[in-house]
Amino acid sequence: MSIPQNLNHIKSSLPEHVTLVAVSKTKPVPDLMEAYNAGQRIFGENKIQEMVEKHDIMPKDIQWHMIGHVQRNKVKYMAPFVSLIHGVDNFKLLNEINRQAARYRRTINCLLQIKIAEEDSKFGMTATEASEILQSEAFSELQNIKVVGVMGMATFTDDTAQIQKEFTSLKNTFDVLKAIETPNCKLEIISMGMSGDYKLAIDCGSTMIRVGSSIFGERNYN
Ligand SMILES: *Cc1c(COP(=O)(O)O)cnc(C)c1O
Repeated sequence: MSIPQNLNHIKSSLPEHVTLVAVSKTKPVPDLMEAYNAGQRIFGENKIQEMVEKHDIMPKDIQWHMIGHVQRNKVKYMAPFVSLIHGVDNFKLLNEINRQAARYRRTINCLLQIKIAEEDSKFGMTATEASEILQSEAFSELQNIKVVGVMGMATFTDDTAQIQKEFTSLKNTFDVLKAIETPNCKLEIISMGMSGDYKLAIDCGSTMIRVGSSIFGERNYN
Protein backbone atom coordinates (compact mmCIF):
# COMPACT_ATOMS: atom_id res chain seq x y z
CA MET A 1 0.00 0.00 0.00
CA SER A 2 1.04 3.62 -0.52
CA ILE A 3 2.00 5.98 2.30
CA PRO A 4 -1.37 7.82 2.22
CA GLN A 5 -3.22 4.49 2.22
CA ASN A 6 -1.19 3.19 5.18
CA LEU A 7 -1.77 6.41 7.04
CA ASN A 8 -5.51 6.46 6.44
CA HIS A 9 -5.79 2.80 7.32
CA ILE A 10 -4.16 3.38 10.71
CA LYS A 11 -5.96 6.65 11.42
CA SER A 12 -9.37 5.15 10.70
CA SER A 13 -8.77 2.53 13.38
CA LEU A 14 -7.72 4.95 16.15
CA PRO A 15 -10.00 6.09 18.97
CA GLU A 16 -10.44 9.85 19.02
CA HIS A 17 -8.30 10.39 22.12
CA VAL A 18 -5.22 8.80 20.52
CA THR A 19 -2.71 10.99 18.66
CA LEU A 20 -0.63 9.52 15.87
CA VAL A 21 3.03 10.52 15.58
CA ALA A 22 4.33 9.54 12.13
CA VAL A 23 7.87 8.33 12.76
CA SER A 24 9.84 9.43 9.72
CA LYS A 25 13.44 8.79 10.80
CA THR A 26 15.75 7.78 7.92
CA LYS A 27 13.00 8.50 5.38
CA PRO A 28 13.50 11.12 2.63
CA VAL A 29 11.52 14.37 2.54
CA PRO A 30 9.34 13.33 -0.47
CA ASP A 31 8.02 10.42 1.63
CA LEU A 32 7.22 12.77 4.49
CA MET A 33 5.50 15.14 2.04
CA GLU A 34 3.24 12.31 0.90
CA ALA A 35 2.10 11.90 4.48
CA TYR A 36 1.84 15.68 4.87
CA ASN A 37 -0.32 15.98 1.78
CA ALA A 38 -2.55 13.25 3.20
CA GLY A 39 -3.12 15.45 6.23
CA GLN A 40 -0.45 14.31 8.69
CA ARG A 41 1.03 17.18 10.73
CA ILE A 42 2.94 15.43 13.53
CA PHE A 43 6.25 13.83 12.66
CA GLY A 44 8.70 12.04 14.96
CA GLU A 45 12.46 11.86 14.46
CA ASN A 46 15.15 10.31 16.62
CA LYS A 47 18.20 12.30 15.48
CA ILE A 48 18.32 16.04 16.14
CA GLN A 49 20.40 16.88 13.07
CA GLU A 50 18.03 15.01 10.75
CA MET A 51 15.01 16.66 12.33
CA VAL A 52 16.57 20.13 11.93
CA GLU A 53 17.32 19.51 8.25
CA LYS A 54 13.79 18.33 7.55
CA HIS A 55 12.26 21.16 9.57
CA ASP A 56 14.22 23.73 7.57
CA ILE A 57 12.81 22.66 4.21
CA MET A 58 9.33 21.43 5.10
CA PRO A 59 6.07 23.36 5.74
CA LYS A 60 6.05 25.33 8.97
CA ASP A 61 2.74 24.00 10.30
CA ILE A 62 4.35 20.66 11.11
CA GLN A 63 4.79 19.70 14.75
CA TRP A 64 8.16 18.03 15.23
CA HIS A 65 8.53 15.48 18.00
CA MET A 66 11.93 14.29 19.19
CA ILE A 67 11.39 10.64 20.10
CA GLY A 68 15.00 9.47 20.45
CA HIS A 69 17.60 9.67 23.15
CA VAL A 70 18.67 13.31 23.52
CA GLN A 71 22.23 14.44 24.01
CA ARG A 72 22.36 17.54 26.16
CA ASN A 73 24.80 19.42 23.96
CA LYS A 74 22.45 19.16 20.97
CA VAL A 75 19.28 20.52 22.58
CA LYS A 76 20.15 24.00 21.30
CA TYR A 77 19.67 22.99 17.67
CA MET A 78 16.02 21.99 18.09
CA ALA A 79 15.06 24.47 20.81
CA PRO A 80 13.66 27.09 18.37
CA PHE A 81 10.97 24.79 16.98
CA VAL A 82 10.60 21.35 18.62
CA SER A 83 7.05 20.81 19.82
CA LEU A 84 7.43 17.78 22.11
CA ILE A 85 10.48 15.92 23.45
CA HIS A 86 9.52 12.35 24.37
CA GLY A 87 12.71 10.89 25.81
CA VAL A 88 13.60 13.06 28.80
CA ASP A 89 15.17 10.78 31.37
CA ASN A 90 17.16 12.96 33.76
CA PHE A 91 17.04 16.31 35.51
CA LYS A 92 20.17 17.74 33.87
CA LEU A 93 18.51 17.31 30.50
CA LEU A 94 15.33 19.05 31.70
CA ASN A 95 17.49 21.86 32.98
CA GLU A 96 19.24 22.27 29.63
CA ILE A 97 15.94 22.14 27.70
CA ASN A 98 14.65 24.87 30.01
CA ARG A 99 17.76 26.99 29.47
CA GLN A 100 17.56 26.71 25.69
CA ALA A 101 13.78 27.30 25.64
CA ALA A 102 14.31 30.49 27.63
CA ARG A 103 16.77 31.78 25.03
CA TYR A 104 13.95 31.61 22.48
CA ARG A 105 11.28 32.81 24.94
CA ARG A 106 9.41 29.56 24.48
CA THR A 107 7.97 26.81 26.64
CA ILE A 108 9.00 23.35 25.49
CA ASN A 109 6.73 20.44 26.29
CA CYS A 110 8.43 17.27 27.55
CA LEU A 111 7.55 13.69 28.40
CA LEU A 112 9.46 11.83 31.07
CA GLN A 113 10.76 8.53 29.75
CA ILE A 114 10.03 5.76 32.23
CA LYS A 115 11.96 2.51 32.03
CA ILE A 116 9.42 -0.27 31.58
CA ALA A 117 11.43 -2.82 29.57
CA GLU A 118 13.50 -5.55 31.13
CA GLU A 119 16.28 -5.02 28.59
CA ASP A 120 19.24 -3.05 29.91
CA SER A 121 19.56 -1.17 26.65
CA LYS A 122 16.43 0.94 27.07
CA PHE A 123 16.73 4.37 28.66
CA GLY A 124 14.42 5.79 31.25
CA MET A 125 13.91 6.59 34.90
CA THR A 126 12.00 4.78 37.60
CA ALA A 127 8.61 6.02 38.78
CA THR A 128 10.23 7.05 42.06
CA GLU A 129 12.92 9.09 40.33
CA ALA A 130 10.28 10.81 38.21
CA SER A 131 8.17 11.58 41.26
CA GLU A 132 11.15 13.04 43.13
CA ILE A 133 12.10 15.27 40.22
CA LEU A 134 8.57 16.59 39.72
CA GLN A 135 8.26 17.49 43.40
CA SER A 136 11.70 19.04 43.78
CA GLU A 137 12.35 22.73 44.28
CA ALA A 138 14.89 22.71 41.45
CA PHE A 139 12.20 21.50 39.07
CA SER A 140 9.71 24.16 40.20
CA GLU A 141 12.17 26.82 39.05
CA LEU A 142 12.14 25.64 35.43
CA GLN A 143 9.67 28.09 33.91
CA ASN A 144 10.32 27.37 30.24
CA ILE A 145 9.43 23.70 30.19
CA LYS A 146 6.23 21.84 30.85
CA VAL A 147 6.07 18.13 31.63
CA VAL A 148 2.91 16.94 29.91
CA GLY A 149 3.18 13.18 30.18
CA VAL A 150 5.21 10.01 30.16
CA MET A 151 6.78 7.83 27.48
CA GLY A 152 7.92 4.24 27.47
CA MET A 153 9.27 1.54 25.21
CA ALA A 154 8.40 -2.09 25.75
CA THR A 155 10.88 -4.95 25.51
CA PHE A 156 11.57 -6.10 21.95
CA THR A 157 9.86 -9.48 22.14
CA ASP A 158 7.01 -11.56 20.66
CA ASP A 159 5.72 -12.25 24.16
CA THR A 160 2.45 -10.29 24.20
CA ALA A 161 1.88 -10.89 27.88
CA GLN A 162 5.26 -9.34 28.67
CA ILE A 163 4.54 -6.27 26.52
CA GLN A 164 1.11 -5.90 28.06
CA LYS A 165 2.61 -6.04 31.53
CA GLU A 166 5.09 -3.30 30.65
CA PHE A 167 2.48 -1.02 29.05
CA THR A 168 0.23 -1.50 32.06
CA SER A 169 3.06 -0.52 34.38
CA LEU A 170 3.51 2.72 32.43
CA LYS A 171 -0.21 3.46 32.70
CA ASN A 172 -0.01 2.83 36.46
CA THR A 173 2.99 5.13 36.79
CA PHE A 174 1.10 7.80 34.85
CA ASP A 175 -1.89 7.47 37.17
CA VAL A 176 0.33 7.95 40.22
CA LEU A 177 2.35 10.86 38.83
CA LYS A 178 -0.78 12.58 37.52
CA ALA A 179 -1.61 13.64 41.08
CA ILE A 180 1.40 15.96 41.00
CA GLU A 181 0.13 19.15 39.44
CA THR A 182 2.35 22.23 39.43
CA PRO A 183 2.68 25.30 37.16
CA ASN A 184 5.11 23.35 34.95
CA CYS A 185 3.68 19.86 35.29
CA LYS A 186 0.33 18.56 34.13
CA LEU A 187 0.30 15.00 32.89
CA GLU A 188 -2.06 14.24 30.03
CA ILE A 189 -0.09 12.13 27.56
CA ILE A 190 0.94 8.47 27.66
CA SER A 191 3.26 7.91 24.69
CA MET A 192 3.50 4.18 24.08
CA GLY A 193 3.03 1.84 21.13
CA MET A 194 4.85 1.42 17.81
CA SER A 195 4.01 -0.38 14.55
CA GLY A 196 4.08 -3.84 16.09
CA ASP A 197 2.26 -3.15 19.32
CA TYR A 198 0.19 0.05 19.07
CA LYS A 199 -3.17 -1.73 19.27
CA LEU A 200 -2.14 -3.42 22.50
CA ALA A 201 -0.76 -0.09 23.76
CA ILE A 202 -4.10 1.61 23.13
CA ASP A 203 -5.90 -1.17 24.99
CA CYS A 204 -3.52 -0.50 27.89
CA GLY A 205 -4.24 3.24 27.96
CA SER A 206 -1.93 4.86 25.40
CA THR A 207 -2.95 8.33 24.22
CA MET A 208 -0.09 8.82 21.75
CA ILE A 209 1.37 6.20 19.43
CA ARG A 210 4.65 6.46 17.51
CA VAL A 211 4.32 4.57 14.23
CA GLY A 212 7.00 4.42 11.54
CA SER A 213 7.35 1.31 9.39
CA SER A 214 3.61 0.64 9.14
CA ILE A 215 3.28 4.03 7.44
CA PHE A 216 6.53 4.51 5.54
CA GLY A 217 7.69 0.92 5.06
CA GLU A 218 10.74 -0.82 6.46
CA ARG A 219 13.76 1.33 7.21
CA ASN A 220 17.07 0.87 5.47
CA TYR A 221 20.00 1.75 7.74
CA ASN A 222 22.80 1.52 5.18
C1 LIG B 1 11.71 4.05 15.44
C2 LIG B 1 10.89 4.34 16.64
C3 LIG B 1 9.50 4.14 16.63
C4 LIG B 1 8.73 3.59 15.43
O1 LIG B 1 9.04 2.26 15.20
P1 LIG B 1 8.20 1.39 14.11
O2 LIG B 1 8.37 0.00 14.60
O3 LIG B 1 8.84 1.64 12.80
O4 LIG B 1 6.79 1.85 14.16
C5 LIG B 1 8.78 4.48 17.77
N1 LIG B 1 9.38 4.97 18.86
C6 LIG B 1 10.71 5.18 18.92
C7 LIG B 1 11.30 5.74 20.15
C8 LIG B 1 11.50 4.86 17.81
O5 LIG B 1 12.83 5.07 17.89
